[in-house]
Amino acid sequence: MSAEDENKVVVDVLVAGAGPSGLLLANELVRRGADGRIKVRVVDAALGPSEHSKALAVQLNSLEIFHDLGVAARALSEGKSLASNTVFAGKGCKQELKIKLDSLPGESPFPGILVLPQSRTEKILLDNLKSLGGNVEYGTELMGFSNTKDGLVECRLRAEGREFTVLARYLVGTDGAHSAVRHGLGMKFTGHKLEGEFLLADCDINEEGGGKIFDGTGAIGKIEGGMGGFFPYARDGGASWRAIITRREEDSGAQASLAEVQRALDFLPTKATARSPRWISVFALHSRQVESYGSGTTFLAGDAAHIHSPAGGQGMNLGLADSQNLAWKLAMAVQGCASPGLLDTYSEERHPVGRRILTSTDAAFAGMTSPGALSRAARGILFSSFGRKRILPILSARAPKMVSQLWVNYRASSLSQEVLPWKPWRSWPLHAGDRLPFLTLASTGKSTTTLDLKRGTSFVLVLFCSSEGAADLLLSGLDAAREALEPIAAGPGLEVSMIVDFMLKADATAGDLCSHASSPLASALSLFRVEDSADFKQKFGLKDGIALVRPDGYVGYLEALGMKSQLSSYVRRLTK
Ligand SMILES: Cc1cc2nc3c(=O)[nH]c(=O)nc-3n(C[C@H](O)[C@H](O)[C@H](O)COP(=O)(O)OP(=O)(O)OC[C@H]3O[C@@H](n4cnc5c(N)ncnc54)[C@H](O)[C@@H]3O)c2cc1C
Repeated sequence: MSAEDENKVVVDVLVAGAGPSGLLLANELVRRGADGRIKVRVVDAALGPSEHSKALAVQLNSLEIFHDLGVAARALSEGKSLASNTVFAGKGCKQELKIKLDSLPGESPFPGILVLPQSRTEKILLDNLKSLGGNVEYGTELMGFSNTKDGLVECRLRAEGREFTVLARYLVGTDGAHSAVRHGLGMKFTGHKLEGEFLLADCDINEEGGGKIFDGTGAIGKIEGGMGGFFPYARDGGASWRAIITRREEDSGAQASLAEVQRALDFLPTKATARSPRWISVFALHSRQVESYGSGTTFLAGDAAHIHSPAGGQGMNLGLADSQNLAWKLAMAVQGCASPGLLDTYSEERHPVGRRILTSTDAAFAGMTSPGALSRAARGILFSSFGRKRILPILSARAPKMVSQLWVNYRASSLSQEVLPWKPWRSWPLHAGDRLPFLTLASTGKSTTTLDLKRGTSFVLVLFCSSEGAADLLLSGLDAAREALEPIAAGPGLEVSMIVDFMLKADATAGDLCSHASSPLASALSLFRVEDSADFKQKFGLKDGIALVRPDGYVGYLEALGMKSQLSSYVRRLTK
């Protein structure tokens, strides 16, 4: 294409940066516009995919996002589940505590933490993008952008020393911590540099005598000058360990060496040797966030919008979830069916989540590494025999949920609406804005889960009920709901499912449940039976009602059977 032609190129979305956040966004957009309805261009300044292992921890929420995209099985086969982490208290310590991380039973079928080098995660996302017909233009840097009077974004790009312009309806900066998009927006990256210097090494670790601490699980604990963490991961052609340690003050500014990893290992109550370094790097850490993730035509996601300490392995996962939240809203805007305010809810929903993660990772990191008197005292208490008996077990029980990001909800969002009978708000377990609870279901004799029920790019209207009478009432209300839901059905798409908490014939259909089942929505309905009635009652609270589940798996609208419906007004908030 000549430079002149390129000047005229108009795309729907220009994604600047193909790290995990940009690749996920591109996947989500391309799969929604496979018929060419969404023109996406993805550029990355690097000459090719990154080979660095960087983020190792793929959290549960990200595995669910991957499941939805159809790449979870590959990620699971290439990664290694981190079953537990041993917390040790330093030299001479005989007692350790094992924090179990392997799963959250009843909340998700996936392992608690999948250890997978970021380069592999990116490769999986890139391969999937290509299989969907998308691609990344490597060696293409976003130099700057400006808004045109027609409401487009004029993006200045450079590739092979040549500059050219692409006009985009939307620009998303997934271009990392030094984001050109953030600079172009003139946004401040408010926050601070974290105290201290940190060393990261990917190397072999061999433990003498059959392995006591390094038995295939991670280890984390107090070492001279701060904390050290050691995590195993599978790499091409073998195994590797990631060591991440706080440097001693006297090492600060010096060249990083494996000797520092060895010194940290010598603090463990075992004999272990570090060998064959593959990547050693020293880095400073920051905790920063922009004030808004964007509005109008230009948005930020991932490290371009927030950076923080590696405590809990949250960063990449936070960026993936940003992209998941933005993608369906952006797709609706491109397809012309979004309400004027829909895109603004991206920042409204994701900024507070980022803030909460920054606050918690800052606190955890300071507690683990800060040389300050308060932090040292806190570490002293945590690793005292009292702390080991009383505090660490509580932290360890909470750790899997805390790091999973399954706690995220959008209850406070303007996109969440519910019509429930009066009862103290807190006593309802399920609210609009919550992730659709995980349930095991049976359908035509096969076992499935709510994760499969909400899989795909459409909205899902879920009718749930505990008696045939309630099923009949809900199904008869579908005709009225059909009109209200028309803009969704015509835009992103709508599926209808019914979850029943009573006995059904194995091959039952909606037609067996009521005479109203001939309405178009009911005839396309998928029917599921709850496998564990107590679990359903505990997670839903409501016995009979409807939930409109957004494409990202969160309940947008929740209504109890018998309440005056607000579904039409809810759909008007979402759609044009
Ligand atoms: C050592 C280390 C360990 C980590 N461990 C973890 C962990 O265990 N778990 C976790 O969740 N997170 C971890 N993180 C954080 C994680 O790596 C980041 O949060 C993640 O990479 C962010 O992804 P991103 O796509 O937002 O940005 P990036 O991965 O930074 O990708 C940005 C992309 O944009 C491109 N780019 C930059 N500028 C331009 C431009 N002007 N034009 C076009 N392209 C551009 C870059 O080439 C790059 O490919 C770790 C980070 C480090 C450094």
